[in-house]
Amino acid sequence: MAVNKDYVPNVRFCLKCGDLLNNRESLVVEYWEGDRTVYVCWCHKCGWKGETSDIVKFAATELDEE
Ligand SMILES: [Zn+2]
Repeated sequence: MAVNKDYVPNVRFCLKCGDLLNNRESLVVEYWEGDRTVYVCWCHKCGWKGETSDIVKFAATELDEE
């Protein structure tokens, strides 16, 4: 199996504690679901595991300015 040593995932820090995920103990795996890019992450420091994805399109309401 070839390993791309130049590959750097877009997720670099743990979403819970902020520790670097780019190390041998943590894990970031990238996969694609249609046009979405999804990252499965596991942080060795705090134990958080979960998924995050790039946002392709979103809708938001306008905030009231009072
Ligand atoms: Zn963490």
